[in-house]
Amino acid sequence: MAPPANLTKNKAPAPPDYKTIKKQFDAAKRAKAAQDAEQETTAVVDDEQARLRDRHKAALKIARKKSFEARWAWTAGFWLWMLCIHIVAIAYFTSGFLLTRLMLDEKSVCDAPPTLNASGPVDLLPAWNGKGTPDGGCWHPRTFQRAVIVLIDALRYDFTVPVGDGARFHDALPFMYKTSVASPEKAFLRPFIADPPTSTLQRLKGLTTGTLPTLADLGSSFAGTAIEEDNILMQLRDAGRRMVHLGDDTWESLFPGYFVGNLSHPEDSFNVWDLHTVDNTVMKHIFPLMDRTEDWDLLVAHCLGVDHAGHRYGPDHDEMTAKLRQMDAFIQDLTAKIDDDTLLIVMGDHGMDAKGDHGGESDDEVESALWMYSSRPIFGRTKSEFVEPPATAKIRPVNQIDLVPTLSLLLGIPIPFNNLGRPIEEAFAGPKGTAWDMLAAAERTTAAGIRRYQASYSAARGSDQAETPGSPAALWAKAESTYVKVAGQKKADWAAVHSAFAEYQAATLKKCKSLWAKFDLKSMAIGIVVMASGVITLLVYVNRDGDDDEEAIDDPELDLAEQSLQLLGHKPNAEDTAVQLEKTLVAAAMFGAFPFLLGGALQALHSGTGDWYRGVPFASLVSIVAVLVRLFEAQETIPSVFPKTAWGWMAVIFTLSQSIGFASNSYTIWEDSILLFFLTTFGVVSALTALRLPTLTQRTLGTFHSVVFILLGRLASVSKLCREEQMPYCTSTYYASATSSTSAPWQLVIPFLISLSLPTIIKGFLTPSRSYHGLAPGYINYAFRFGLFLAGVYWILDAADSGNWFPSLREKLLKNISVYLAQMILGTALVAGTTAFIWAPPSVAVVTTAEAGQTTKAKVAILGWGNAHGARYLFLLLNILTACFLLSKPMGGGALGLFTWQILSLLEILDLNSLTTSSPIGPTMLALLGTFHFFTTGHQAALATIQWDSAFIPLFTIRYPWSPLAVALNTLAGPIVATAAVPLVALWKTDPHRKGLLEKVSRALGVFVVYFAVEALATMAWAGHLRRHLMLYRVFSPRFMLASLVLVVVDIAGIVVALAGVRVNTLAVGDVFGWPSG
Ligand SMILES: [Zn+2]
Repeated sequence: MAPPANLTKNKAPAPPDYKTIKKQFDAAKRAKAAQDAEQETTAVVDDEQARLRDRHKAALKIARKKSFEARWAWTAGFWLWMLCIHIVAIAYFTSGFLLTRLMLDEKSVCDAPPTLNASGPVDLLPAWNGKGTPDGGCWHPRTFQRAVIVLIDALRYDFTVPVGDGARFHDALPFMYKTSVASPEKAFLRPFIADPPTSTLQRLKGLTTGTLPTLADLGSSFAGTAIEEDNILMQLRDAGRRMVHLGDDTWESLFPGYFVGNLSHPEDSFNVWDLHTVDNTVMKHIFPLMDRTEDWDLLVAHCLGVDHAGHRYGPDHDEMTAKLRQMDAFIQDLTAKIDDDTLLIVMGDHGMDAKGDHGGESDDEVESALWMYSSRPIFGRTKSEFVEPPATAKIRPVNQIDLVPTLSLLLGIPIPFNNLGRPIEEAFAGPKGTAWDMLAAAERTTAAGIRRYQASYSAARGSDQAETPGSPAALWAKAESTYVKVAGQKKADWAAVHSAFAEYQAATLKKCKSLWAKFDLKSMAIGIVVMASGVITLLVYVNRDGDDDEEAIDDPELDLAEQSLQLLGHKPNAEDTAVQLEKTLVAAAMFGAFPFLLGGALQALHSGTGDWYRGVPFASLVSIVAVLVRLFEAQETIPSVFPKTAWGWMAVIFTLSQSIGFASNSYTIWEDSILLFFLTTFGVVSALTALRLPTLTQRTLGTFHSVVFILLGRLASVSKLCREEQMPYCTSTYYASATSSTSAPWQLVIPFLISLSLPTIIKGFLTPSRSYHGLAPGYINYAFRFGLFLAGVYWILDAADSGNWFPSLREKLLKNISVYLAQMILGTALVAGTTAFIWAPPSVAVVTTAEAGQTTKAKVAILGWGNAHGARYLFLLLNILTACFLLSKPMGGGALGLFTWQILSLLEILDLNSLTTSSPIGPTMLALLGTFHFFTTGHQAALATIQWDSAFIPLFTIRYPWSPLAVALNTLAGPIVATAAVPLVALWKTDPHRKGLLEKVSRALGVFVVYFAVEALATMAWAGHLRRHLMLYRVFSPRFMLASLVLVVVDIAGIVVALAGVRVNTLAVGDVFGWPSG
């Protein structure tokens, strides 16, 4: 019986490495060439000629490989230049946008009180013993010999007062409230309001200098530097007082060398995983110190447990209750040890939001608590209703900077020069609450200090202080005249003097806040112009004359013929022109920028101003112009930046409506929902166009993928973390509840579901193009699946550790195992995965088929040929995805799994509609998806949503650069995965002989980056325009910071992931299948 089919397959076993594939491919090709030559009756078989031809072929291959590498280097050079342009634009805008405050070097001196130069009498208090010396009191009688400051990080005001709502963070710290009510002359408790940003570092600066923060050094949250400005600790040091510090080591970096070494015990501050080490150190060492008060004058104890419990679990957790109870007992024990000469201050530096995080300026974040205690009756209330501490932080709050003059005066040291705060009433009112002369004296001394500072500041800035009605200058004059008048009266009304100077202080503080929110419009304009020019350049770059019409050649026979043609001297010139473009662009950029950079640097050197960068904006603009000129020169026609198709218009509309929307705060607040709407719109349009596809199969597939794309978006949007402004119309699902920072038990199942399903789904996408060969099954079905599975195991261990599921286990055992597991997953995904990606053969199988009856005529078939580029590049995407999957917590991991499926559906939709090469819609949709999944992975454009704890997934303590890297991979997982997927738009369903792939990828990357550059430009422009808007620092400024950060990260990932990945991929495919020309 003859075989029924006309083809019998002699399938080769799946080859394990690409040398084997290459050998099989070459052997098969040689065999075929030999057969063909045999049958060519006219061919002259000449050994000499054949050898010559082989040599020529080898030389041609090397030349093409070299040409590719050169083109790659120039393309990468172009993108590096673009990164520089973006950094210059962002840096200039930021320098003009964020608050700037001039730092003054002046220091207050003990025997020169600020009231010396005032018009009225120097002092309204009668002279006291040791007046004008630190021992007796510089500007005010010294009330206490020493002070103990207990700083409970993130102590929110409502933790300290009775609320009675049953929340686990309420009514667990009652001691301070009770003492204030029971003995008001010994203790008082008041809301303590922080100036944003609410980071501990910034707060410590405010709490010791008495002045306002500058947003510019917000970024240095990870590493503090020494405070140079006049501050309480500096004054104490100059007065010869000894200081001891326990706990959070931020103090040591802010005040290096201030503390008595052998008594101080600093502890690492960033390990938010660890609730107890810092507090235990504080409690262990503070009590022995209370028995040797002769050894110190100031004791600072900084507890971090409450803050860490907030970050790790959120406030509504049993750990928080336990922590607050522990702090309550600690304060009670400490109070018992306070002697008559010691002042005890317990305070928070900031609060925490509903999830236990902080950094921004929402009410919960800025509302902290201040409690002062003295075992001597000292404190008073000017009204009887002030005895009971305020029920909420909205009633009678004090500013945190008010601590600075209060503490300085009580300890007898000068008030730091830059102080803007005022004395706290209870501390000076006397036990009866009637010491108005004392209050007026403290208020006037402080106000005079503020006035002296203002005069110095105006002189340094070269501005004058106009005395218009209601201005600080007018209020000062009024207060002084009140003072002079009252001083001459028999029954002096010191309360009037007190309120007159208080009014002056309030007006000055208000003026300073608005003054320091002043913007440098010139720098902002430079930033906007450079960014806009960069966007125009990219638009021209991506819309330049294309070479997209090249036919794909998927027949090895044709390849052979083409190579022979070229051997005969028929040389296509495509590769030469391609080399020219990026090369000339980079050259133009360099020549354009260099003279101005050099000129600016020389000018700075000559004038000795040190601003070597002064030529940078001009250099950027000139290099942009030079590049644009080159781009136009390379065109035959003037390129149109307007899209030619409906899909192209859709990309433009999505991008532009986003950027226009950023003008509105509610649009910015609801950005996540609006992105979902755009994604759904795309899915609906692609489902409708699918109906017009030629074949039934295509119509079915097109509709199927479109519907899946929409459903996946809807499903992913379930994972969300609401921002404060979205309340109450939003429900957070990223964590177990709105007041938690841990995952719910059901969420722990998600990573396992993804591990079960995603590899199979990816296989389903590779099978139709027969690309599930070579390394693909091992890589996707085993390594990738196992990586996802281990990430699921990690989160189980983490939950077991957080929830204390196994109390009998040795302490830290679970944490140790989970950290090493996380390190292993990340190491495997990023290091071993990258190595495997570099060495992996293309995902193809070589099959030799013989036609029935004609056993001598063999046919070579390569399974997976049609998707050789895309299927192999996919490995790189999966490596990045695995790392982000682990770091994004269970809910975010689930969203990223859906994201991957969406990417593959999008690629199929693009392929079905022939949109892979020339249309901007593919990269634009990837950009939208990347931004959308920024939100589904538990983030918002608000500082408080940064998941700092992700730094501790693979580490026990802060390590550079790994900790910031882990936080970056967690924060920007969406945009990073999207960037890694950009080359797939050009590579998916692409065979080894497709020409100009690098150019197509670079163009796709161009469209993708345009989206983010337009967003950055729009947020800049709107933030600049709306700089007086009430919501500037809450909504617009964080969105600008996010857009800038994403743009820079996308630029970098575009070079080191996307372009580098394409280089590796092309070299691997080219080595096996030969090099297409161009
Ligand atoms: Zn914190």
